[in-house]
Amino acid sequence: MMWVTDFADGNKDQKDLLGGKGANLAEMTNLGLPVPPGFTISTEACRAYLRQGGDPEGLEDQVTERLAALEAAMGRRLGDPTDPLLVSVRSGAKFSMPGMMETVLNVGLNDRSVEGLADLTGDRRFAYDSYRRLLQMFGSTVLGVHSDHFSDALDALKKARRTEDDLALAAEDLEELVETFQGIIREQAEVEFPQEPRRQLDLAVHAVFNSWNTDRAVLYRRQERIPEDLGTAVNVQAMVFGNGGMTSGSGVAFTRDPASGDQGVYGDYLQNAQGEDVVAGIRNTVSLADFAEIDQKSHNELIAHMEKLEKHYRDMCDIEFTVEHGKLWMLQTRVGKRTPEAAFRIAAHMADEGLIDWDEAVQRVTGDQLASLMFPRFDATAERTLLATGMNASPGAAVGRAVFDWRTAVEWADRGEDVILVRKETSPEDLHGMMVAKGILTSRGGKTSHAAVVARGMGRTCVCGAEALDVDTKTGQFTVRDSKTIREGDLISIDGSTGEIFDGAVPVSPSAVVRHFEGEDVEGELVDAVARIMAHADTLRRMQVRTNADTGEDAERARRFGAQGIGLCRTEHMFLGDRRQLVEDLIVAESAEEQQEALAALLPRQKGDFEKILESMDGLPVTIRLIDPPLHEFLPDITELSVALAIADTRGHRKRHERKLLAAVQRLHEQNPMLGLRGVRLGIVIPGLFEMQARAILEAAAARTRAGGSARPEIMVPLVGSVRELDLIRHRIEQVAREVSDELGVEIDYKVGTMIELPRAALTADEIAPSAQFFSFGTNDLTQMTWGFSRDDVEASFFSTYIEHGVFGISPFESLDVEGVGQLVRTAAEKGRAANPALHLGVCGEHGGDPHSIHFFDEVGLDYVSCSPYRVPVARLEAARASLAND
Ligand code: PEP
Ligand code: MG
Repeated sequence: MMWVTDFADGNKDQKDLLGGKGANLAEMTNLGLPVPPGFTISTEACRAYLRQGGDPEGLEDQVTERLAALEAAMGRRLGDPTDPLLVSVRSGAKFSMPGMMETVLNVGLNDRSVEGLADLTGDRRFAYDSYRRLLQMFGSTVLGVHSDHFSDALDALKKARRTEDDLALAAEDLEELVETFQGIIREQAEVEFPQEPRRQLDLAVHAVFNSWNTDRAVLYRRQERIPEDLGTAVNVQAMVFGNGGMTSGSGVAFTRDPASGDQGVYGDYLQNAQGEDVVAGIRNTVSLADFAEIDQKSHNELIAHMEKLEKHYRDMCDIEFTVEHGKLWMLQTRVGKRTPEAAFRIAAHMADEGLIDWDEAVQRVTGDQLASLMFPRFDATAERTLLATGMNASPGAAVGRAVFDWRTAVEWADRGEDVILVRKETSPEDLHGMMVAKGILTSRGGKTSHAAVVARGMGRTCVCGAEALDVDTKTGQFTVRDSKTIREGDLISIDGSTGEIFDGAVPVSPSAVVRHFEGEDVEGELVDAVARIMAHADTLRRMQVRTNADTGEDAERARRFGAQGIGLCRTEHMFLGDRRQLVEDLIVAESAEEQQEALAALLPRQKGDFEKILESMDGLPVTIRLIDPPLHEFLPDITELSVALAIADTRGHRKRHERKLLAAVQRLHEQNPMLGLRGVRLGIVIPGLFEMQARAILEAAAARTRAGGSARPEIMVPLVGSVRELDLIRHRIEQVAREVSDELGVEIDYKVGTMIELPRAALTADEIAPSAQFFSFGTNDLTQMTWGFSRDDVEASFFSTYIEHGVFGISPFESLDVEGVGQLVRTAAEKGRAANPALHLGVCGEHGGDPHSIHFFDEVGLDYVSCSPYRVPVARLEAARASLAND
């Protein structure tokens, strides 16, 4: 097995094997950019290590061999006492997991080589600063010492020297710190810091392997749907130093602004700094323009490399670099994370620039990003009190109660509060809190800080680096420039697009993108980018997109949003309000005549409902589902009614109607109503009910035709498990249709089909298909019935525990369980089509608006998805992306 690959031998397409960082380091090396040499230990080695709990056969030898080559290239030996080669050991999985996994820098330093380094560079301060960093990172990452021990000791030293600036510490201070850190390791980990360089290297590599399975990495992968079994690669690279004085430094840069998508480079630079300093917010960074003032030559080289990288990757790149005594080194590049707004604008710009084509532009954005652009923004006309302004790190308008630690965030969010997580700066430990918060606010760090990067990745609103805030996480409060104090629980509002922080809850207004979809004439680059990408997406998709709508108003909005018909009009709510009485009458009717009367009273009302909906979708198909839920949902509560009657009894009142009603309620009472008398079963048991609905639909369609419209109703029978059920109802509907046609003298264009929402229906789809003109997958019930858990109860009761234990990564009611429920969908689609080639197939469960599920529906060949009006644009985009991906 080849476990180790030299940077010079890899390329950017080997992310599976070399991880993202390793593959891109290799690519940069081969592009001729100044990359310090090194090698990558593969993800395969990591998987083998985790599987067998130790190094796989041959790994040690291969590392020895590559290390020897690296030493030869650099003309130094690892940890040599007089002229040491030092290396960095960095994790790098296939998908970037910012801040989730481990890095150890300056490996190779020990009590002797630190002196060698000091002599060689003539800079004791630098040598000991490097050593204390190694002890700190090695101690926490490899030996499991809590990082607070080190940062507390550093803080204490700074305090003793009466400074807040780590640069103000002298060489002797750092020497002292090295001793303190070694003591911490001895005390906390009960081992000596290993002096042997190769042993340091091996332990660091193992720590990186093991970091694949830390809680926070596991949590992040679930959230981002990154597979569990990929493992991480490890990059071992010759160190270059940004901490050797003011002619050195380190920085991060983006080839375009990752927050807004603006053209032009964007970045932060920090003089005399190493590694994470620049993103950890310990000191405030300077912009690239200021970097040009500091070091024109390195700046110009950096800009040239960035141009080269963007052209080569044909995408916005995110870069880490270091300047060592005026020499620029490129340490990392990858396709950069960006906000939803930036994603759309960058894709459209790049298509305009000819860097990518429009198909690719569609692939560069996601339905989730579009959905987040459809959230409301703060109402600019509302009165508001500005507390301070920080950096606009991740857009959105978030309102919530201030909390100052991740545990409180989780606790409060669990009980339904909206929270804003406020920190000085965030670290990977805060991840859980960031996930549940509506927004994140920090007082330190730039747009490339941990808080900003992670928030953007999660689509969470974030304002960072608000220096006016004095955040005290211990007492749970922040003070704005010695004036107003906000305490834990106080309401604040943060605007991630402008960086503004407001006191109290600011009202929000609709997004520009939604106003555009609504047909308003909205200007701006974002709306323009969205419009052009959507227009192209509509030319690409194979599946149609319909909407779930029960009212004319919803249907009209969905149509403006691009819906191509209604995939599900639920008729249940049409039986509530003042019509409830009629339903009661229907249920308690003691004779066919009474029943007929109740139905006759419902008919014109239903007809009116359907006319409105058919009118709003004129010319497009409208699937109307016959009534589905158990009838007792329309009846009074059994206990209340019994009590009222008992009281009436003691007073000697007669209450004839109520007594009949109670008898009916008792008769209809069920232990498991979801598995009881509902759907097609109702239609079969209560004569006349479905016929009345069918008549209302068909008469409404006839009326529309007469009025010059074009009605295309599709009558859908719910909860069918056997073809016999469908046939019984279908024959009745056909009978009604003949009657209506004859009575009104109008030919009606209608279809009859069924929902597939019971496993039995899916399994016998070949028997059902010849009796149906269409199938619509009711994936809500199909999920409920397949897993055997109640959709109304379980999400709130035990899903969080299930997700914690990894039974599933996301609720199967939110995103289709492709392996289980998906098999039923696939089977039914295949069997149905084989038995009836003209069969039209769609889906109308919640999954119809979920990006991941949409890709699956495209793959199994459904004709359309149907979702709520606001998800229609998301579904249009994802259906197009699915067409491209599944081609
Ligand atoms: C379904 O079951 O997926 C469905 C669309 O019907 P309802 O949600 O109304 O049960
Ligand atoms: Mg259903």
